[in-house]
Amino acid sequence: MGKKKRKLKKKIKPSGRKAPAPLPADRFDPEVFRKRRACVLGLGRSGFHAAALLSRKGFKVLVSDSRSRKELPFARRLPKGIVLEAGGHGDKALTCGFALKSPGILPQAPILGRIREAGIPIFSELEVSLAFCRSSEIIAVTGTNGKTTTTFMASAILKAAGRRVHTLGNVGTPLSAEAAKVGKGDVLVLEASSYQLEDSRCFKPAAAAVLNVTSDHLDHHGSMAAYLAAKARVFRDMSPSACCVFNAADPLAFGLSRDCAAKKLFFSLRPSTLASAWFERGSLRFSPPFLKKGFSVAPPKLVGEHNLENAMAAGLLALACGAPPKALARAFKAFRGVEHRIEECGKFHGLRCVNDSKATNVDSTLVALKSLEDQAGKILLILGGLAKPGGFAPLRAHVQRCAKAVLTIGSAAAKIEEDLAGAAPVFPCESLAQAVSVAFRIGQAGETLLLSPACASMDQFRDFEHRGQAFKELLRKTR
Ligand code: ADP
Repeated sequence: MGKKKRKLKKKIKPSGRKAPAPLPADRFDPEVFRKRRACVLGLGRSGFHAAALLSRKGFKVLVSDSRSRKELPFARRLPKGIVLEAGGHGDKALTCGFALKSPGILPQAPILGRIREAGIPIFSELEVSLAFCRSSEIIAVTGTNGKTTTTFMASAILKAAGRRVHTLGNVGTPLSAEAAKVGKGDVLVLEASSYQLEDSRCFKPAAAAVLNVTSDHLDHHGSMAAYLAAKARVFRDMSPSACCVFNAADPLAFGLSRDCAAKKLFFSLRPSTLASAWFERGSLRFSPPFLKKGFSVAPPKLVGEHNLENAMAAGLLALACGAPPKALARAFKAFRGVEHRIEECGKFHGLRCVNDSKATNVDSTLVALKSLEDQAGKILLILGGLAKPGGFAPLRAHVQRCAKAVLTIGSAAAKIEEDLAGAAPVFPCESLAQAVSVAFRIGQAGETLLLSPACASMDQFRDFEHRGQAFKELLRKTR
């Protein structure tokens, strides 16, 4: 090679370093990648724990984030030895052996294109973390709504069956935070969001569920087709002897089941020949093909038909992993629901108060209103926050039937008022505190105050948990 040519070649190499040869990348194998530096993209909670896990496991780690160091609360907590590139993605990532994408990074982010062009494989936090779990008994729950509730219910049943259970993933504790603690013989129950699934090249749960699919997160995935493809990854690599649970009554979830090569188990609110679990005369009936005899069990004491669906999905998952019928009965009896999901907070100023802060989209608020239909005309509904695309018109008919008044908060307030004009009296409020105070003033004994905002929370709160906690505190404090 001539001197001139060599000089030119050196120039186009990222950071002047030698580009590594690509490695086999159909799945993440720590042994194959051990000698190569890992690039963790994104320093949120998942990125932080994933970087720490890889570092503990002996990998050299670079963390790269487009936000400045000041905007990264986890920057100061990074273990020694991990290199942080903040304020933009330079070329350092292109010298790594593989990249791990944090779930929140948009699939269209330019850095991902550059990494792919350089022939560097990108894995999900889920897939990399699973490589360090000693158990392969993994239950994965996905769907647009109901994931957390179903994940906790399935965990409760398996615990009642005497299993050691780890409940991780989108439920709040990233898999990477605890992956190394998952021992042989333990069960891992994972809430798997579409963000986490989209980059999983090889993901083989022993049992999985697709609860439902409605349009959500399209700002992240770019299209409904991409969202569906991400959801389908939960079963794409499953072994044919594993079980995947689907909601027979959900058109998109049912449609996805056609592409599933594993054993399919369906649940349905109404009895049907297809269903392995259904609701009949006040009981949940389970009759999957692998049980000699079907059985009935009392459902958990939670409001809403959606929770019957969640219980059926959780029950089928646990049965597929060997839990006995009595474990379902015991766990359902004791299950009290999950915080911030149509959570009964007690009576304040004569009002029944319900915290459904997790309702961050219109579909979830509809579910809450349907669940509280016995309260028709008596609901004081707090709506608002950061609006998602699509508007609030789908709520009109239910608001008209159920709500005595709507109290609006946050940046979506004007849009809510416009979309629901005439459906119920609207009280614009400056804050959640004011909304609670107005509700206590106009509400009468026997009515229900429901926080089910149909919006994201980030214009006024850190997240939906923060909003729900604030609501509960205001209930206690407001005179
Ligand atoms: P996710 O983790 O998928 O967000 P959650 O279990 O946290 O789901 O429930 C969030 C909200 O979604 C609930 O408050 C309820 O309004 C709605 N929801 C729960 N389960 C279902 C279901 N099976 N079908 C439709 N909506 C549901």
